[in-house]
Amino acid sequence: MAMKNELLQVAQNCRLNAYAPYSKFKVGAAVLTANNKIYGGCNVENASYPCGTCAEAGAVAAMIADGETTITEILIIADTECILPCGNCLQKIAEFGTEKTMIHSADLNGNIKTYTLQQLLPHNFKAGDIKC
Ligand SMILES: [Zn+2]
Repeated sequence: MAMKNELLQVAQNCRLNAYAPYSKFKVGAAVLTANNKIYGGCNVENASYPCGTCAEAGAVAAMIADGETTITEILIIADTECILPCGNCLQKIAEFGTEKTMIHSADLNGNIKTYTLQQLLPHNFKAGDIKC
């Protein structure tokens, strides 16, 4: 529980810095690694829409840049009732998580819903699916 509060704090702070001048939809994310390290990220939009990146992508990139590779939990927060990672981000989380990786969805009113990666992406694409 303490870790979830820390994740919430980091994600909230990152959300405030989100660059979302086009959608006005600010999102913050924070990942917890197997070594109990936390990394945050926010969405970064671009005038050329496809160039934008999700908050989860930023948090995962910060984690990898610091040498961590295992996600045990991730928290996403936005100004909406229940935000879930997009399909692209679920695949990013799956690359570094397990079926049991917890995905917390938070809103600005303090509500948090928790899912497992298995629930949200039961059949992710795996390295073993690549055939040469
Ligand atoms: Zn996404």
